[in-house]
Amino acid sequence: MFKKILIANRGEIACRVAATARRMAIKTVAVYSDADADAKHVTACDEAVHIGGSAPKDSYLRWQRIIAAAQATGADAIHPGYGFLSENEEFAQACAEAGLVFIGPPASAIKAMGLKAESKRLMEKAGVPLVPGYHGSDQNPALLQREADRIGYPVLIKASAGGGGKGMRAVESSEEFAAALASCQREAINSFGDDAVLIEKYAQRPRHIEIQIFGDTHGNYVHLFERDCSVQRRHQKVLEEAPAPGMTEAMRQQMGEAAVAAARAVHYVGAGTVEFIVEQRAGGMTFYFMEMNTRLQVEHPVTEAITGLDLVEWQLRVAAGQPLPLKQAQLRRHGHAIEARICAESPDNQFLPATGTLQVYRQPVCTCFERADGPVHVRIDDGVREGDSISPYYDSMVAKLIVHGDSREQALARMDQALSEFHIVGLQTNVQFLRHVVQSQSFATADLDTALIPREAGVLFHQEKLGLSVAVAAAVALTLEEEKSRETADPFSRTDGWCAHGPSQRRFAFEFHGESQAAQLARAHDGTLQLALGDLRLPLRYTATPNGLQLELDGQRWRLQTYRRGEVVHVFGAMGATQITEIDLLAHAGVAQHEGGRLTAPMPGKVVSFLVKAGDTVSRGQALAVMEAMKMEHTIAAPADGVVAEILYAPGDQVLEGAELLTMAA
Ligand code: ADP
Ligand code: ADP
Ligand code: MG
Repeated sequence: MFKKILIANRGEIACRVAATARRMAIKTVAVYSDADADAKHVTACDEAVHIGGSAPKDSYLRWQRIIAAAQATGADAIHPGYGFLSENEEFAQACAEAGLVFIGPPASAIKAMGLKAESKRLMEKAGVPLVPGYHGSDQNPALLQREADRIGYPVLIKASAGGGGKGMRAVESSEEFAAALASCQREAINSFGDDAVLIEKYAQRPRHIEIQIFGDTHGNYVHLFERDCSVQRRHQKVLEEAPAPGMTEAMRQQMGEAAVAAARAVHYVGAGTVEFIVEQRAGGMTFYFMEMNTRLQVEHPVTEAITGLDLVEWQLRVAAGQPLPLKQAQLRRHGHAIEARICAESPDNQFLPATGTLQVYRQPVCTCFERADGPVHVRIDDGVREGDSISPYYDSMVAKLIVHGDSREQALARMDQALSEFHIVGLQTNVQFLRHVVQSQSFATADLDTALIPREAGVLFHQEKLGLSVAVAAAVALTLEEEKSRETADPFSRTDGWCAHGPSQRRFAFEFHGESQAAQLARAHDGTLQLALGDLRLPLRYTATPNGLQLELDGQRWRLQTYRRGEVVHVFGAMGATQITEIDLLAHAGVAQHEGGRLTAPMPGKVVSFLVKAGDTVSRGQALAVMEAMKMEHTIAAPADGVVAEILYAPGDQVLEGAELLTMAA
């Protein structure tokens, strides 16, 4: 076995590989870019080498530097992770020439599967079923048009060199073909430097089902069952699960055998995935080869969860020349697993990627991590910590959340619960969107196909499960709690008219979904609270719990967690999450002008009350008087510590701007 490996990647997959290496007592070397100098993956490894600038082309794609780093640190092998150099045959070859083991398939297998069209020609020979289509090398547009007409619409034009969901165009009719072809070729040449395309029949009610395979250097092959990755946006995976709902044992066996045949045809070694498009018709499901990914896949943890195996350990063993640890007949499946990709993006805004700082990053409790003989319940694979930032240089995936249950229903419930406990503040994420997908009728009933997201759009986007009144109540309760804890430290810190005991009234102003909202909190003699919001009068009770708030609003109970970041209060609950901006009336009224111990009215208006009397000692920021103008209350606060000398007006008096309200002695 290797003594030391270099991990030529970043983020969650670098951390994931490092975790297995550590368990196997293999030393690890990280590589990092400028942007990743303090990244989690660097601290997860035993050593780290800086390899260049933040952009991938200046660091993670500079394979000469990576090979030099491996040689300088005495690593025996390089694990490429996924993305970056993982499917780069030149890199695999260069590793071999430098005397380093590439933890992945031979360069020849990467090359054979690298172009979709060529891989299909190979698969055809190996007897693997292909989607009806055209994958010839003749790229004459007139010929391509004739082929599309022959195949029958709708068709899908794909860049042969494409990947990551890019370079694909669905075409509905013959008339649209020429324009779609030209646009697909443009994207292909820009993104992949190769404008060759292939054409496939667009499958009906398509599902994406893939088979995890493994090969070793002794000619053994196995498959580790399937994963269903049908829930996609822009041809990219959002949720993945295993086993695939509705899969029969017979079909599983056929697909497994086809995948192993595909691997055998290219003398595959290591972990790989054969992706199939599955057509659903009244008569049943038919599968067709789509492409092979010659690396470890993002969604490999669902396979680990149902098999209890560690696929990275298998990769390391195979790369070190050992035979596959198990034979096909020894492989077992247990229960059901689902993975959700948590991304920094804005689902309500066309999934636009988001950047920012993870000001709050709280995870659900992981009841079990990694391979266990018992089942995995909740697992999180990530490459970030609270306080880290999500930069524009790399992809938007923040974490993977993987759950396991005895049944799909159990896994689904666990996923929903774990998502509700995943709290991220500081940037937009798809966490709530993922919950809506998991809760949707289609997903819950396993009515799966790649159009699930557009079909369920009505319940997935612009959903708000926590309304205004709960958001306001949570923000009010949080504010009172914060003041209470400040007061315990400093009993004179009170800055407004709210007294700690006895009856009191207090105004709040908020902004919720772009609209301003006024609220009033009243406390009766007996201490009961009532929140007034528009025409609503809502009895409010709350208790602070170690992790949040237990609210009772108008008789309904809510267990919530709140995080304040400046004026914004982020509220998370079992039902959903929201945020509300608290407008600080004091700050907006401004501190009254203070000239030589005089406190003057900042605007013409009426004096509502004085909160202090002559002789009182006050501290800076403490509320002294309340004025009303333009239907808003304004608090006049002490500009500095001091003693109140004289009160010059009485409540109810009208005053002009600049009128002196009270005087203070320093
Ligand atoms: P997997 O097939 O392993 O589940 P994806 O299909 O989402 O993962 O992505 C495959 C690889 O392509 C990953 O290594 C990922 O980093 C990369 N990738 C994903 N999205 C894009 C994109 N928009 N552009 C370029 N590469 C991408
Ligand atoms: P990539 O290399 O970008 O992963 P794939 O060939 O794997 O490209 O296709 C990506 C996705 O596009 C699939 O997961 C599936 O949702 C959809 N797709 C691909 N081929 C077809 C097809 N023939 N019919 C319907 N949908 C397809
Ligand atoms: Mg694919």
